Amino acid sequence: MRFFNTLTRRLEEFREIEKGKIGLYTCGPTVYDYPHIGNYRSYVFEDLVKRFFIFSGYRVRHVMNITDIDDKTIRKANELGVPLAEVTQKFIDAFHGDLRRLNILKADVYPRATEHIPEMLSLIAVLLDKGFAYKKDGSVYFSIESFKEYGRLANIDRDKLKPGAAVDSDEYDKEAVQDFVLWKGRKSGEPSWPAAFGEGRPGWHIECSAMSMKYLGAHFDIHMGGVDNIFPHHENEIAQSECANGRTFVNYWLHCQHLVVDNRKMSKSLGNVYTMDDLRQRGLDPMAVRYLLISSHYRKLLNFTFAGLEMAGQALNRIKNFIFSLKNVRAEGDADPDLCAAIDASLNAFRKNMADDFNVSGALGVMFDLIHEVNPRLNALSQKDAANVLDYLQRLNTVLGVLDQGESAPLAADIEEKIAQREKARKGKDFALADAIRAELKKQGIVLLDTPDGVKWKKE
Ligand code: AMP
Ligand code: ZN
Repeated sequence: MRFFNTLTRRLEEFREIEKGKIGLYTCGPTVYDYPHIGNYRSYVFEDLVKRFFIFSGYRVRHVMNITDIDDKTIRKANELGVPLAEVTQKFIDAFHGDLRRLNILKADVYPRATEHIPEMLSLIAVLLDKGFAYKKDGSVYFSIESFKEYGRLANIDRDKLKPGAAVDSDEYDKEAVQDFVLWKGRKSGEPSWPAAFGEGRPGWHIECSAMSMKYLGAHFDIHMGGVDNIFPHHENEIAQSECANGRTFVNYWLHCQHLVVDNRKMSKSLGNVYTMDDLRQRGLDPMAVRYLLISSHYRKLLNFTFAGLEMAGQALNRIKNFIFSLKNVRAEGDADPDLCAAIDASLNAFRKNMADDFNVSGALGVMFDLIHEVNPRLNALSQKDAANVLDYLQRLNTVLGVLDQGESAPLAADIEEKIAQREKARKGKDFALADAIRAELKKQGIVLLDTPDGVKWKKE
């Protein structure tokens, strides 16, 4: 398996630290508002990567932090005049609801920054001790000059560094490459914790270093986030972690390009965001959102449009209709060896595409090729053939995650039962009951088709 490592700017063959296991850290949400679908592009991509590793036989330990204290969360709590924890809890709950809707696998741990202050304090103490950090006006800063690798991830020319100049805010751009804050001295209107180096609260970057180290160790396999995390956040995480531990922090850095609207990053500050709730209110299917977000390559910008979302929904419907037709196959007979071979070849091609820098469009193309090959031959399939194709789709879906359980699982017995009841009613000339059953199924999105070969059904 190979993919693009931001750190080396090359496609690299993946080698895990401990055989068969992967330590994975993904930067989680800053819970000051509802996450938008730009954020979810990154989270869904991370989920796709994780699912593919699991599909490939790895055991993945996934840690995703929750940033529940930083400049933005504090500002929001002060604006609303409510305690910080009240604001953050509301958005943490919303986030978990969205994860479920988008069929994102749960992380093993969701550590919250406010619950890891002691770990951050010890990390800062080590950095001070080793001379990588200094105190100034009640705060503690990291000295970028002290780390000769500083700027490697974001590919920053060391001539551009402005050592000695200190920056207090959590976010800044490449034009302001300065000593960044590890611990912010106490200010009125901000929560604070006692510390040997003065009461205060953590900067954003130290949070991820402390929490990843606690749950994955000083050296682990993969760290992911959106491209906007490369600088300064991930650059600073590397500096803090490597200086404190004296060893490599992370082997592979994977970054997802932005979701944009008219060529501008979807972001709260630009006001061009859609939340999952906005889309739900427009009656849009979360699985179509997931399909849209995974279907273009992670290193390319993805322009969000409603037309694009509709097309994603249509592609998804093609798969669902195919599945419903397969579930309707009734013919007896053996499994066709040619079809078995085609399925095997398709599964391998799917795997090969995904293993090549997560070429998901290639992988989806392989799946649709098989669908197009089988679709015209549905009448010639035996039930065994249909089961084999369904099984194949189910395996692919463990990676793609675009079909929910009910759709990828074999025909729900109760739908078949309903169809049988309706047939019985019709034979007994109880057309009112037959119509009622048809209407009930329609409500569940199931359409019945009376054909010369009997009753067929499909999803609307
Ligand atoms: P934040 O809550 O701002 O810390 O962002 C959470 C995650 O979403 C980070 O990994 C960001 O890089 C990512 N992100 C933010 N905006 C976008 C966007 N428009 N497209 C893709 N990822 C994004
Ligand atoms: Zn982070």
